[in-house]
Amino acid sequence: MLQRNELREKIKDYMGTIRLSGFESRMAYKLLNDLGSYADRASIDRMGNVIATFNGTDPEAPSLMIFAHMDVIGFIVSRIEPDGFLRFERVGGISEKIVQGIAVMVGSESGTFYPGMIGAKAYHGQLAEEKSKVDPFSSLFIDIGAGSERQVNELGIYVGCPVTFAPNYVELLGDRIAGAYIDDAAGMANLVQIASILNERRPRCSVHLVGTVMEEFNARGAMMAARTANTDMAICLLGPGAGDTPDQRGVNNVVLGGGPAVTLMNFHGKGTLNGNIAHQGMYQRLRKVAEDRGIPLQRSAARGALSDTAYLQLEGLGIPCLDMGTPDRYSHSPMETCDLGDLEKVGLLVAAFIDSIDRDFNLNRY
Ligand SMILES: [Zn+2]
Repeated sequence: MLQRNELREKIKDYMGTIRLSGFESRMAYKLLNDLGSYADRASIDRMGNVIATFNGTDPEAPSLMIFAHMDVIGFIVSRIEPDGFLRFERVGGISEKIVQGIAVMVGSESGTFYPGMIGAKAYHGQLAEEKSKVDPFSSLFIDIGAGSERQVNELGIYVGCPVTFAPNYVELLGDRIAGAYIDDAAGMANLVQIASILNERRPRCSVHLVGTVMEEFNARGAMMAARTANTDMAICLLGPGAGDTPDQRGVNNVVLGGGPAVTLMNFHGKGTLNGNIAHQGMYQRLRKVAEDRGIPLQRSAARGALSDTAYLQLEGLGIPCLDMGTPDRYSHSPMETCDLGDLEKVGLLVAAFIDSIDRDFNLNRY
């Protein structure tokens, strides 16, 4: 079973693996290798999802898919200026407020990545009223040090190439870490932790551990993975944002270091009109297992976000779904943070949940 230090190394490795939505192949092959070393079989489906399966000992028990998304938010090159600056479109939810002055990596068509930055207007060149103003994406640009469009093209960088935050990883006080793309390196580290536990103790139910594509883009990779895996129920490993920073107080009671968090309702309204209200049977089972094992369980219910479960739950006759995971702060910024103690407990709790599933588990909503 993976110990906390091994989990730390795993999340650090995944945080540093470049994996923009739609460009997840590096991460997919890495995860295929990491999960495949434990599972009965592992493969990558047509969409690019990694599916590692552990055969259960009871074929009558419902099968369970545990998934985390491999992809990350970032940008796509949309125009190359004659003097070599790159314009871009965002991929996923990113605020203009957090990108000026950050380091990025720009991919070429051959797969090489080059360092660059999103330029911030020189302080001394700003008018007084500009200093507190946020510039729209359309006015921003990436500088990779090139002097002409031709020089950029010679590197293999064209319109359509991927851009991500530059990898970074920092250890804070205690067991807290920070950096870009904890979302959802945390969930993937849990997948490997769970694989190592299942390798030692066979579950009654068959379990598919899945790394999904394009969550940040269209939140439907898991839906496609479920068609390949043919699962009966699913858990999405994606922690809610914590409400314990000065700017988030009152949003929810979820705190870093308080243990795994389950999301009882999420919903995204803007043009999406979708979300997930937790399957009560799965939630009650998770709650009981957490109590039995002495693992704290935090609860979240919030609008403004959704995960792949929104679409996954509508597959086939309906797939019971639960969202849970490691709480994080500052999500979708270049410096997110989480607590490794929470991370470790998420894997232990999910493993205990798996252990509890037998042929009598009721998949119906009631
Ligand atoms: Zn995200």
